[in-house]
Formats: sequence, structure tokens, C-alpha cells
Amino acid sequence: MFLPMGVSVNTQGHLAVGGVDTLQLARQYGTPLYVMNEDVIRSMLREFKRSIDENYENGGMVAFASKACGFSQMFRIAAEEGCGVDVSSGGELYTALKAGFPAERIVMHGSCKTEEELELAVENGVGRIVVNDAYELRRLTRVAQRLGKTADIYLRVTPGIDAHTHSAVMTGQIDSKFGFTLENGDAMQAVKDALAEPVLSLKGLHCHVASQVFDEQPFRDAARVMLTFLRDIRTETGVTLGELDVGGGFGVPYTAADEAKPCTEYMKWTADAMHDYAATLDFPLPRILIEPGRAVVAHAGVTLYTVGGIKDIPNVRKYVCINGGMCDNPRYALYEADYTVCVADRAGEEPCERVTVAGRCCESGDLIQENTPLQPCDEGDTLAVLCTGAYNYSMSSHYNRYPKPPVVMVRDGETYVAVKGETYADLLSHDC
Ligand SMILES: *Cc1c(COP(=O)(O)O)cnc(C)c1O
Repeated sequence: MFLPMGVSVNTQGHLAVGGVDTLQLARQYGTPLYVMNEDVIRSMLREFKRSIDENYENGGMVAFASKACGFSQMFRIAAEEGCGVDVSSGGELYTALKAGFPAERIVMHGSCKTEEELELAVENGVGRIVVNDAYELRRLTRVAQRLGKTADIYLRVTPGIDAHTHSAVMTGQIDSKFGFTLENGDAMQAVKDALAEPVLSLKGLHCHVASQVFDEQPFRDAARVMLTFLRDIRTETGVTLGELDVGGGFGVPYTAADEAKPCTEYMKWTADAMHDYAATLDFPLPRILIEPGRAVVAHAGVTLYTVGGIKDIPNVRKYVCINGGMCDNPRYALYEADYTVCVADRAGEEPCERVTVAGRCCESGDLIQENTPLQPCDEGDTLAVLCTGAYNYSMSSHYNRYPKPPVVMVRDGETYVAVKGETYADLLSHDC
């Protein structure tokens, strides 16, 4: 069975996270339960930092993409590790600031940012605001003028690259709602507009190709397109921009079928391409930012559920029904995401059948996985879904009015609650 980093099978044959038995976790905290391994998160952040130090002499910053998993403790961990964070909404920004995250290491993303969000960013001196379109450029100008402050910005550019991943997570191709288009001159016009605006200080460019990318080529292509554009900007305006944020998107394996690559490859690919193209284009290497989200947290997470029953339809399929679903993990319903599933107290056994794991939301599409290998299980067993650290908690909803499960962190063999589970009373807290 595919085991992510920090997940093991203990001597009793039970699944363990960071050495802690998942059956004990389920007993102590109840299910559904998000379990996150803090040691894995920290080691991934360190690996990404090291990958810049070792491959890119011009330096840079790892900005954890907090939309992958962004509660207060995640921001504290990223701050302690000396990383930056990327936030993509007022809510993520507010959480970061309230967690004491240093504003100068925050990169503010998002499309269609409101004046209110931009105000929060400018007022608090966020490090870089990534402007997504011409409307936003004007909105940000108004906000900065009103506050009497200068905003340090990047422009988000659509590099026009097809990354061969799921269309819902593809962002770099021409047909995208994100960023200024290069081909029709929109991006160059935005550069000129930004440079002409006294309350804006254009520091560099941003692009983000896609998510869950395993190939080197899209990252090389992005480096080529962006460096070429930086060179063109120098030619047309005389300004040499010194920073390039190449986004995130590094793929991680979810099942044995996915290829596993060390996360350091990502920066190596980008650095190699930057060296090549900087030389060809005779352009100085910019400072670099990378924004890994999924790759930092996906493997750190395991979700625990309790099996409520089995529905076996002969010659059709066998459903294993659990006490959670698309409300805590919508990724299969959204884009048929792959997961490895196992019965927590039989993790050492070979899977013996193929089943469909069904959630309990009132949608036939509320499935966690179809036709997935699983060990035998019955009512009351603890079911573990692996690699749920990214885009699970952060994508959870209150559909069917299920309270959101708690997040329990494992650190050095000890556990603590990082996010409290919601109660029914919490569900009423905003009803008038
Ligand atoms: C989503 C996103 C990321 C992180 O992507 P991952 O695939 O989780 O690494 C980074 N930067 C931007 C701008 C994003 O939108």
C-alpha cells in the first residue's frame, strides 16, 4: 500500500501518523477527524528553502500557499520556519495577520480583489500585492492614494502554457480568468500603467502555471516566457525588474500509480531554466519566489472516518458508507481526485476487494473514491483517507449543516488540537 511521508503501519498492524496510532486518535478525538503531521510540514518547508539555497545563487523566498491549508497554526509554523506565505483573500490575510505573521513576508493574491481587501493589505504593509487585472490596478491605485501609502506590487501574467493537468486546476493557459494576457499587449500596457503611477511600486512579475504538475517542461516554459517578458520590459521602458514569482504547482503522489519526485526537483528545474534563459537573453537573474501549497501539506494529512454501513449491490458495486464526505473533502466530487484509502486497524493487510467509499451528503456524487482497493471492513471500523492535508480542510463546507471536524496536529509523537471541531451550536452562531 502507498504510504505518504510520516505515515506507517505499527507493530499491531494499525495505521500510525508520526508514530501515533490512528485508532487511539479516533478514540480520543472522535471522527471525522483531520490529522496533520507538523513534523512533515516543517520538513517540507525546510526542503523547499534548501532547494533555493542549493540551486539558485541569487536567493529568494518560499511563500507557502496558504489556500492549500490555512488556519492560524499553519501561519505560525510557516513564520517560525522563516518562510513567507501567499494569501488569496481578505480572510486568509486576516488570519495571517492575527496569527502574528510578519506582513512584509506576505504575498497577496486573488482575482477580483475588493477595495476592502486591498485596503487591509495596504494598511498593514503587506510585502507584495499581486495585481490580477486592469480593474484591480485602478482599484489599488485609489486605495493607496486614499491611505497615502505606496503599494509594492507584482503583476500576474498569464504565460500561455498548457501544463497537461486537470482543467479545473490549470491556470497558465491563454484561456484563463487569471492574470494579464501577454499576446495582445495587455501585460505590457499594465507594466507601463503601473510604472507611471506614483503610489505603486512595481517590483516584479508573477505567474502560476497549474497545480499537481509532474513534468519539468511547464516550469521551463514559464521561466522562458517570463524572462523574455522581463527582457522586453527592459527594452521598452528601460526598467529592469528584479523579482520573479513563479508560483506553485509541484505535483505530489496520492496513490502508488503517481510517480514520486523529491520536492527539491521543482526548484532545480526552475533554477536550471532560469540560468539557461538568463544567459541566452542576457538578462540578470531576478530574485525568485516559489509558492508551494499542496507539496508542503498534502502528505502531512490523514482524515479518519467511522464506517456506518456497507451497501453491497451484487454485480454492480459495493458502497462503504462513512460519517463524512464532500463537506470535509470535496476533491473527488470536484475533479475525481485520487486517494489511497485503508482500514486503520488492518493497514498491514493487503486490500482484498474494490469498493466505493461514499460520504453522507445528500448528493449521489458525494463519493470519496470509486473502485478503490480496500481491506475488509464493517460498521464501526475506522477508515483512513491518506494525503488529505491539502485542499481538504480549506475546501470544507457546511453542506447539509454538518459541523466541521477538528484538526489535530501530531508533533514529536504528541498531539494537540489546532482547530476545534464545530458544534451544532456553532452552526447557529450566525443565524438571526
Ligand atoms: C494555488 C496557488 C499556489 C499553490 O499551488 P499548489 O499546487 O498547491 O502548489 C501558488 N500560487 C498561486 C498564485 C496559486 O493560486
